[in-house]
Amino acid sequence: MGLIVQKYGGTSVANPERISNVANRVIATQKKGHDVVVVVSAMSGETNRLVALAEQFQKPPIAREFDVLLATGEQVTISLLSMALISKGQDARSYTGSQVHILTDSAHNKARILDIDDKRIHADLNEGRVVVVAGFQGADEYGNITTLGRGGSDTTAVALAAALKADECQIYTDVDGVYTTDPRIVPEARRMDKITFEEMLEMASLGAKVLQIRSVEFASKYNVPLRVLSSFTDIDAEPKGTLITTEDEIMEQAVISGIAFNKDEAKLTVLGVPDKPGIAYHILGDVADANIEVDMIVQNISEDSGHTDFTFTVHRNDFEKTQSIVKNCAEQLNAKGVVSDNNIVKLSLVGVGMRSHAGIASKMFQVLADENINIQMISTSEIKVSVVVDEKYLELGVRALHVAFDLAEDSAE
Ligand code: ASP
Ligand code: MG
Repeated sequence: MGLIVQKYGGTSVANPERISNVANRVIATQKKGHDVVVVVSAMSGETNRLVALAEQFQKPPIAREFDVLLATGEQVTISLLSMALISKGQDARSYTGSQVHILTDSAHNKARILDIDDKRIHADLNEGRVVVVAGFQGADEYGNITTLGRGGSDTTAVALAAALKADECQIYTDVDGVYTTDPRIVPEARRMDKITFEEMLEMASLGAKVLQIRSVEFASKYNVPLRVLSSFTDIDAEPKGTLITTEDEIMEQAVISGIAFNKDEAKLTVLGVPDKPGIAYHILGDVADANIEVDMIVQNISEDSGHTDFTFTVHRNDFEKTQSIVKNCAEQLNAKGVVSDNNIVKLSLVGVGMRSHAGIASKMFQVLADENINIQMISTSEIKVSVVVDEKYLELGVRALHVAFDLAEDSAE
C-alpha cells in the first residue's frame, strides 16, 4: 500500500463525462490499496477564457486580481471531481490551494511554492477519503491568492508528492508518455519507458513540452519519481507511460535518449567587434539589463587585426527588442554592423550515455553533412549536443538523426 499523487490536466477534465472517467480511474487506484491525492487543472480552455476576460480591462492584467480570477478555474474542477467521486460511493473532499496551506512567495502570476502543510490531507486520507486539491494556486504569507504560472498544476502535484513523501507522482495528460522526438515529425518516434530527470529537463527546455519545467526541477530536487501517462487508455491496463527518475533507477541506459528541437529562437551577430576584454560583457550586459535571456553564445578568434564576430541566440519574442539594443551597442563599440536571422531552429541530441561515449558530436555532424545541412552554431554540455540550422531543415534533420541514432520503435532492444 502506497501513497500516489495523480494530476489530471485540462483535457482530462474537459467535460462531465471525462471528469466521471477520472473519478473511475482514481477509484481503481484506491481499490488497488493506495491512498490517493488528486490534483486537477481547470477544464481545457478555461484558463485562456479567464485571461481574455481580464485583458478586457488592462493588459497585462493587475497581478493580484488576475490571480484571484485565474484560481477560479481549478476551483470548479475540484468540486466537480469530488462530486463525481462521492456519487460513485467514494468519499472525497476538495480543497483550494490556500485551504491546504500551499504557501508561496508573493510573486503574483509566477509564484513559487515555499511550504505545504500536510496535516489536513493526512487526516482525510486516514479517514479513507480521496483528497482533491486545486492545481496551479496557493496563497502568500498575507493570505493573498497566488498562481504558479501556466502549466503550474504539474508543479503543485510534484510539490504535494514531495511534501507527502508519495511513492509516485503520476501526471495524466493527453499523450501516453515522453517520446524520443515529436511523433508529428517522426511517426516512428518511440515512447520511452524511463528517462532521467536531467534528460527530461533538457528535453522539456528544448521544446518537448509535456511538463512544466519547474515541476521536473522540483521532482529532481526532492527525488519524487514522476510518471507521465495518458488518461485516455484502458482503465484496467497496468499504467505504463514514461517514468522520470534518477539515473540509478535506469539500468540499461541508451547512449542517446531523444532529439529535441526549438523553433522559438532567433540569432544575432555583431560583426567586427574589437577582440579585447569587456566586449562580451558590454553586449550581453545590455541584453541582460533588458531582462532578455540568452541561450547559445559563440565567439570566434579574430583572423584580422584584432576584430571578431560575436553571435548569440534569444527567444523570438525578444528578437526585435534585442536587435535595437545590439545595434546601439555595435555603434558604441565601433563594430562593422549587426546581422540577424529569425529563421533558425535548434536541434539537440540528449542522452546521459554521452558521458561515457566518444564521437557522438562528430557522428551528429556527419549525419547533417550527408543531408547537406549547414550548421550555423554548435554548443555542447555533458548530456547534449545542440546545433543551430536553417529552419527549413527542421524535419529533414530530426528524421535523419532519429534514424542514425537508432531511436525508432523497431530498433529498440
Ligand atoms: N490551468 C492552468 C493553465 O492552463 C494551470 C494548469 O493547467 O496546469 O496553465
Ligand atoms: Mg499542462
